[in-house]
Amino acid sequence: MHDSIFTKIIKREIPAEIVFEDADLMVIKDINPLAPIHLLIFPKKQITTLNDLTIEDSNIISKIILTATKIAKELKVDEKGYRLIMNCNSDGGQTVPHIHCHLLAGRKLKLEA
Ligand code: AMP
Repeated sequence: MHDSIFTKIIKREIPAEIVFEDADLMVIKDINPLAPIHLLIFPKKQITTLNDLTIEDSNIISKIILTATKIAKELKVDEKGYRLIMNCNSDGGQTVPHIHCHLLAGRKLKLEA
């Protein structure tokens, strides 16, 4: 498997604005923000799509969600609200083949498809 853009960011081969990192995941600012706050939370394990998740990945998936909600509280957008999005494959709008969760906040978001 080739390294994804996000694996290259983890390996410091590509620069990124890193917001948070631990042994399991990384949080960066999206290079093309769609809202005043647009972060990407992704596992260090390169999992290509949501279809590739197994029961062994349960912990990392819950950690991604809990990290997103923790950051939303730290950024004080938890009460006004925010959106978490995970896209899968081309119809879902996935462009980076490494699962990631978008955290969007800072403006009123419309329901778009
Ligand atoms: P998706 O379309 O769900 O796969 O989301 C991929 C996201 O990654 C898009 O919002 C891109 O703007 C973002 N992105 C792609 N390359 C980079 C990069 N080098 N640094 C930060 N964000 C990136």
